[in-house]
Amino acid sequence: MTPPRIPDEAPTAGWDIHCHTVFSDGTETPQTLAGLAVEKGLHGVAITDHDTSNGWPEMLRACRTAGMPVLLGTEVTADDEGVSVHVLAFLYDPSNPAISGMFRRTREARLGRARRMTQLLAKDFPITWDAVLAQARQGDSTTVGRPHLADALVAAGVYPTRSDAFSGALASSSPYYIPTPSPTTHEVVRAVKAAGGVSVVAHAGDRGRNRHLLTDAQIESLADDGLDGLEVWHRGNGPDQRQRLLAIAHRRGLLVTGGSDWHGSGKPNQLGENLTDDGTVGEIMSRGVPVDRIAGTLDSVSYES
Ligand SMILES: [Zn+2]
Repeated sequence: MTPPRIPDEAPTAGWDIHCHTVFSDGTETPQTLAGLAVEKGLHGVAITDHDTSNGWPEMLRACRTAGMPVLLGTEVTADDEGVSVHVLAFLYDPSNPAISGMFRRTREARLGRARRMTQLLAKDFPITWDAVLAQARQGDSTTVGRPHLADALVAAGVYPTRSDAFSGALASSSPYYIPTPSPTTHEVVRAVKAAGGVSVVAHAGDRGRNRHLLTDAQIESLADDGLDGLEVWHRGNGPDQRQRLLAIAHRRGLLVTGGSDWHGSGKPNQLGENLTDDGTVGEIMSRGVPVDRIAGTLDSVSYES
């Protein structure tokens, strides 16, 4: 595989391949994303909600209607020796057992974590697992997590609002807190590959996200496992980090991508503020499962993540 030429500077035209919608923590629908991509003159756009492919069917419809080329993806939360890492997974077959099994195990582990946190909280607060589940049943199909624990604490009169619960008993510094279980980066890279997809480490140089960044050795070890690329053009990566990541990409023949990490009005990031060049998107498409083939399988996949 000959990767496309790596641009030395952030592309000024191309695709925004890092975008969130209401299917995770974005504020806008896939329809709005597709429409905005047209307005901004993007060559194409990707949906990359956190740990889910639930938004893919709607994104496909929205982009077809808007006449906007589309990439389907997921931003998977992973752990690499204590460093929290986001892996962008593009064009994988969501029905592949390697990846659906990984998502299922993560969901189960997160459910177990919510249960254990509830047990810890129940020693000091009037909260039960049934009360937490009652909150999760209120039209929320996502994994039971801290928001539901917060709502149960509010319902029990412990805190006036959800955010008070988050800064109180549910804070990461609280004795009741248990970290969110995640697969390792290596598991994610291998599962994405097994499912025919393309994996890219997101914003690896963002000092705002982690006290420790992935080292060169950690990134290269992922390249040994089949990692396809690094997201270099991202507002969180400073100039020094961009240089470091570009050097690794040159050394290991990795793809170099860019994206806005758009969340609608949830974050200041503007759609299209960082882009991936057309050649690199073409390479992602030639390595991944064709969008049309994924579209054909979507009806048969059960969407729960
Ligand atoms: Zn993101």
